[in-house]
Amino acid sequence: MLSTALDLDAEGFHAGYIDVPASLNHSAWANLRVPLFSIKRGEGPRCLLLGGCHGDEYEGPIALSHLVHGELKLEDVQGQIIVMPAFNTAAVQNGSRLSPLDDGNMNRAFPGNPRGTITERIADFVTRELIPRSDVVVDLHSGGRSLMFLPCTFVPVQKTEAATQAIQDLANAFDAPLSVTIREPSAAEMIDTEVERQGKRILATELGGSALATANTISITKRGIKGVLSSMGILKEQAAIPATSKEKMTLLVDGLHHYTYSDDAGIYEMLFEPGSKVKQGQVIGYLHFADRVDRPPQSVLANTSGVLFCTAGQGLVQRGDVLAVVGHIE
Ligand SMILES: [Zn+2]
Repeated sequence: MLSTALDLDAEGFHAGYIDVPASLNHSAWANLRVPLFSIKRGEGPRCLLLGGCHGDEYEGPIALSHLVHGELKLEDVQGQIIVMPAFNTAAVQNGSRLSPLDDGNMNRAFPGNPRGTITERIADFVTRELIPRSDVVVDLHSGGRSLMFLPCTFVPVQKTEAATQAIQDLANAFDAPLSVTIREPSAAEMIDTEVERQGKRILATELGGSALATANTISITKRGIKGVLSSMGILKEQAAIPATSKEKMTLLVDGLHHYTYSDDAGIYEMLFEPGSKVKQGQVIGYLHFADRVDRPPQSVLANTSGVLFCTAGQGLVQRGDVLAVVGHIE
């Protein structure tokens, strides 16, 4: 079972590591050092901020790095903020979605296993030590290399309307340009499932993608984190930070008909930017086979009508990759 020398119950601003024994070919007694911060001042609400669940999603690590290295002042905090800016640390060091040490997908490793792979052991630590110390978990994702999102928060529909509204309230506080309501079962191995099992709230985001972080997506992320902390009462209410986008939108995703998958390997040409309205059956892109003389471009169609909010994040795609996700306008 993993532990940390950092005292999570201590008052004040503390930085440390979860040390994960990682016996490797090149280093027999190595530790993977997972960064951890605890900012605690008195009793009050508690929030866990996670970045780098996937290693090629950069808004979370960047915004959280600013937060713990100067932006957050202990005297402004009431309660506790725990920060993991590089959740799947080996994946973050490698710029890859999965951990290069064990191919672990941190968001498919929950509730974790104290005797499992490195990724499963980190998940187990979060399940046992960090989620119980939190009222709210903010899990900062982005599209990574393979997807590109209109910056959004995700609100999965819960068993009761009140529970869904409680997550929608967090999304409203984060104030991304888009809020996506998801009416699909989440996988049992996701952190979302474990947070809900422990009776806590989780807000997940998809803040950009294509393995990039832009000035716009970082500013949305920084603003969103402070909005959630303020709405919880952890941060003193700040002067309203100007909205990065005037247009707000809510979309519904409730099944496979929202997704367009690639039928073949090729180069994807998208015809619409994320945020565009499209109709069912409309040509939204082309798949090109530039290495062949006998294949003309293949049309890619929207499977449903609505707003295109997610596209392939890179030109080259493989058969089965997501090319587009279209949400219904609520
Ligand atoms: Zn992710």
